[in-house]
Order: sequence, then C-alpha cells, then structure tokens
Amino acid sequence: MMRPPPEILARDADDPLGHARERFHLPAGLIYLDGNSLGPAPLAVFSELQHAVAGEWAGDLIASWNKAGWFALPQTLGARLAPLIGAGGDEVVVCDTVSINLFKCLHAALALRPNRHAVVAEQAGFPTDLYIASGVGRTRPDLAMRLQGRDGDTLEDLIDGDTAVVLVNQVDYRSGALRDMAALTARAHAAGALILWDLCHSAGVMPITLDACGADFAVGCSYKYLNGGPGAPGFLYVARAHHDGLRQPLSGWWSHADPFAFSPDYVAAPGIAAMLTGTQPILSMRALVAALDAFDGIDMAAVRQKSMALTDLFIALVEERCPDSGLALAAPRDAAGRGSQVSFRHDQGYAVMQALIARGVVGDFRAPDILRFGFAPLYIGFADVWNAVEVLRDVLDSGAWRDPAYARRSGVT
Ligand SMILES: *Cc1c(COP(=O)(O)O)cnc(C)c1O
Repeated sequence: MMRPPPEILARDADDPLGHARERFHLPAGLIYLDGNSLGPAPLAVFSELQHAVAGEWAGDLIASWNKAGWFALPQTLGARLAPLIGAGGDEVVVCDTVSINLFKCLHAALALRPNRHAVVAEQAGFPTDLYIASGVGRTRPDLAMRLQGRDGDTLEDLIDGDTAVVLVNQVDYRSGALRDMAALTARAHAAGALILWDLCHSAGVMPITLDACGADFAVGCSYKYLNGGPGAPGFLYVARAHHDGLRQPLSGWWSHADPFAFSPDYVAAPGIAAMLTGTQPILSMRALVAALDAFDGIDMAAVRQKSMALTDLFIALVEERCPDSGLALAAPRDAAGRGSQVSFRHDQGYAVMQALIARGVVGDFRAPDILRFGFAPLYIGFADVWNAVEVLRDVLDSGAWRDPAYARRSGVT
C-alpha cells in the first residue's frame, strides 16, 4: 500500500487526541471504522474484569454487593457517565438495554402528560425505537403514533397540542444526520410536549448538553462509541424537574424505596432510582467502569472537532479518488449537520463492504444499500482515513467485490 502523504501524517502528529489510541486494544492491520456498532476493547477493561471475577466474585462472593459497590453500580456508573452527556450525576442511571429503557421512559413521559394522545417519532429511526413505541401503544389504545416520513415531512410539523412526547434520535443511524437538540427541545416544549432523546449514535463522540437544552428524557447505548463491550448495559436520563412522582411500569424491586424491606407494598424510590427494574449484569457494568476511564481528561469539544475533520477528509478523499464508482454520499455534506459517521450508497453495498472487511477495513452495511463508516476520534487517525480510502478505491477499481464469496449474507450485517 502507498504511504499517506506528508500533510496527512502531519495532521496525526499534531493531533491533541493522538495519545488516546494507546488506551485501546486495536488488532494489528485493522482499520476499525465500526465503533458506532461495537467499540474496541479499552485496555483497562482486561484488569478490571480480572479483578471483578477473581477478586470480587470468586473471592468475596455475596459480600461484594456491598463491599465492591455492586448494588449501587447503576447510580455510580450513571454519575460517571453524566458529564459526557451534559447531565447531573443524579439524573442518569446505567441499566438494562436501550429497548427496555425506551419502554420505561416512554411510559414515564406519557404519565406526565395524561391528557395528550400522540407520540411523534421518526419512521426511518432505528427500528427498535419504533417497535417499542408501538408496543407501548398496544397497551394504550388511545395513543396515536405520528411518524416523520409517513404523516409529515418534519418532526416539527407533527408536534401539536395533543403531542405527549417526541421520541427522536440525535444522530440518525443510517444517514448520520445530526439534530439540533436545543432547537427541537424548545419546539416540543413550546407545544407543551416532552422530548425523549436517543443518544445511541452520539454518546461518546461529541459534547452533549441535555441539561442546558432542557431535555426531559434520554436513553443511550454503551457498547458503541462508549466502548463498554458486547451487550454492555444502556443508560437513561431523566431531568431533575421530573423526579418527583416519576413512575414507570417495570417497577421491580430495584426501583423500590427500600428493596431489602421486602415489603409486599410497592413504594417507588425517590429520584432517578425509580427508573430501575431488577438485578443488573455486574460483569458488563464493570467492563463499562473501565471503558469510561478511557474518557478521563478527554476534551469532548476536541473530540467533536477531530470527528468533523476525519469525516470531512473521508468524504473529500472518496469523492476525489473513487469517481464514477457507483458510490453516492448518503450523509449530510456539512460537518455541522453530521454525526461521526459517513454513509455512502452503492447498489452492491453488501459485497463491497465484505470485500473491504476482508482487506482489514471494517465498517458495516445497512439495508438496502448503505455502506456505513464510523470514525471514533479517540483511536482513529487521519492516516487511517487515507488508508481506508485507498483500500476502498482498490476494491472498486479492481472489481474485487464481485467475488461470489462476498455476496453471501451473514446473520449480522
Ligand atoms: C444500537 C441502538 C439500539 C440498541 O438497542 P438495544 O436494546 O441495546 O439492543 C437502540 N436504538 C438505537 C437508535 C440504536 O442505535
């Protein structure tokens, strides 16, 4: 492979975040552009898990619920995560999955707007969000779903005096389009509605300002840009203003005011703990403790700046080096309106991505025709971008993707 030109190497040499790459295990020879699906393993996780298994589980056994703080992990991890999303330490818990947290937050929001009958959401959003919203709808026959892309062109058009809650992704998983959190939150509030932000594709890769925007609820994922590992727990945020009387239907014992009283009567815990349900996967939580340490001392404004530069460079190089290749940009061209991923359409996108992966450039494919590349500024550099585009150019120019092996679909794309 050609060596990146000096101006590209100079950008890596000048990168104030360049040192953060050493915090991750990145397999040799791989350019990993899929941190938006599963982040790589932070090195600190290995010793953290060794300690949690050998010392706490094997050694101290049940005493670890107290001694090692296992029981409080949803709150302590939530407080640790809070600065990354612009929240107070008492407004976030780490627990369950995004899907389950959406269910709880939607119900909690609807309970705060009992006389309203509509949920506004995006038809093209990540399907689980819609599936959960329609599941919530099945328990409440008076509830209507209004979808951008089906019932109106914009979310703003669909928000009115009957809207209870707006469910919206900050960054779209397919196109990478970035919403204006402050503006849309203000628009929902002007109509008396609440807003629930899904941060799955933004947490860990840009400054997020939930409190400053006046957001009501948020959910997010910790196995993408937060690098918590496969199946790592989700998180949820509820603004302090809504903590009094917070109610959700998965009111298991971890949400009880006094779980170890084992009372037959349910009394919700005060504050954010009312959003908990039951026992959490402690080993996964512990991996996340160490994964979040990789953000120590990291300036999220610098992360965003580098993210915009990496994605700008990728788009410019692909368009310059792969003209007439059947690729069409499917992401916003303006970096300010884009998350940390870039998508291109190609009518043989699946095979092209498989050929890239076989050559060590790992992105992913989203039906029907989207090649998706995520750029995590903590461990991706400018030379990686340049090299990835060289491999893409070679795969397209040579027609290497036509190998029938690349057309066979795996279960996970
Ligand atoms: C990744 C992702 C999810 C994942 O949901 P799980 O319940 O954790 O499987 C949900 N929503 C969005 C927008 C996502 O990107």
